[in-house]
Amino acid sequence: MNSCFIKNGRVIDPARGLDGPADILVEGGRISAVEPQLPAPDNLPAVDASGLWVMPGLIDMHVHLREPGQEYKEDLRSGLLAAVAGGFTAVLAMPNTAPPLDTAPVISGLMSKAREIPGARLQVAAAMTRSRKGQELNEYQDLRSAGASAVTDDGSWVTDSKVMRRILDYAQVCGLLPLSHSQDPLLAQGGAIFEGRVSARLGLPGIPAQAEEIAVYRDLALAELTGKPLHICHLSTRQATGLVRSFLARGLSVSAETAPHYLFLTHEDVGDYNPNAKMNPPLGTAEDRASLREALSDGTITVIASDHAPHSVLEKEVEFIDSAFGITGLETSLPLMLELAREIGLSPSNLAELMSRNPARLLGLPGGTLAPGGPADVTIIDPELEFTYNSLDGFSKSRNTPFEGRKFKGRAVLTMVGGEIRYRWPNSSIL
Ligand SMILES: [Zn+2]
Repeated sequence: MNSCFIKNGRVIDPARGLDGPADILVEGGRISAVEPQLPAPDNLPAVDASGLWVMPGLIDMHVHLREPGQEYKEDLRSGLLAAVAGGFTAVLAMPNTAPPLDTAPVISGLMSKAREIPGARLQVAAAMTRSRKGQELNEYQDLRSAGASAVTDDGSWVTDSKVMRRILDYAQVCGLLPLSHSQDPLLAQGGAIFEGRVSARLGLPGIPAQAEEIAVYRDLALAELTGKPLHICHLSTRQATGLVRSFLARGLSVSAETAPHYLFLTHEDVGDYNPNAKMNPPLGTAEDRASLREALSDGTITVIASDHAPHSVLEKEVEFIDSAFGITGLETSLPLMLELAREIGLSPSNLAELMSRNPARLLGLPGGTLAPGGPADVTIIDPELEFTYNSLDGFSKSRNTPFEGRKFKGRAVLTMVGGEIRYRWPNSSIL
């Protein structure tokens, strides 16, 4: 069944300037009408969205699904189910798997497997360079034909500026968005957390903010040189955010994302060697956090992505210095952003832009809007629903989250992909 009638909701679709009461008719997996008052069709199931927000399906453009190679941490099924439970109708999987996603057969195989899973849609970022070594470009035309929508060596920075220049040129010709993990690897080498007061107190090697600043500057300068699009992943520092702002003011077609944890936590949350506050880039200072919040409000950062990075206890519950970087995020990203929206005054339309419309536009994906004719990828949010997060209730195989036990207000209560209800919050009265 991929037809239904969504009635009485507050429909939020910034692409069409909509925020108000409306009904939505879904037929054959597509949106067929959005109007303030549609006659209820008597042959279709109805979803009563009274008191709820109805948004274009959320898209998380930075997730690690660990397949192939590390399925004990996550696999396509658990990751795509965790995504719909978090309100996402599509995710962009990063290519640093084993082997990496760097050839057309690997990518088309993964995408066809994902189509059998009743979760979020899978989109793929292919590796930028052969074996992610930062030297030779992959066959972008083939990767694009296989279904990739972006290229990145996420986890590593392409240190050779001449190679990166060619990547920006070639990616744009092939219709792929280049995503940069902008961090100087030699300056960051050996670091476990942000270099500052906390690293000094704990006696841990630090990663200076300049590791991000240097790399972001180089990447922005190459975007200016080539005149080509570039997307900066997981911005985390005040200095790098300022660089993005100043290059945007010069008219470059660059974009940047940050992750919810950088908007809530700081290096102080590492506390007494908490492995779930260890990620790369590292959590910065309260000043960094404030500047990221400001950058969301002023439009410097236009995308929120979770950087969902599942790890088993084998990689996390070890000596802090050896503990793996990264935390899960698919199931906490939206509740955190709803909390932030209340704190700093982002509107539901702002959230829909950051978490749906802008990722869709940048990646050239269908969706990001509820316009008639498009796929019926819809996220229904209850902004008042209070719940306590327990990672055991979720679908991810991993539990490396700093938000365990946090009390939230607001979450996705229904997630629809292509007109099919793929997730429904069990305690909701929505159906
Ligand atoms: Zn990264």
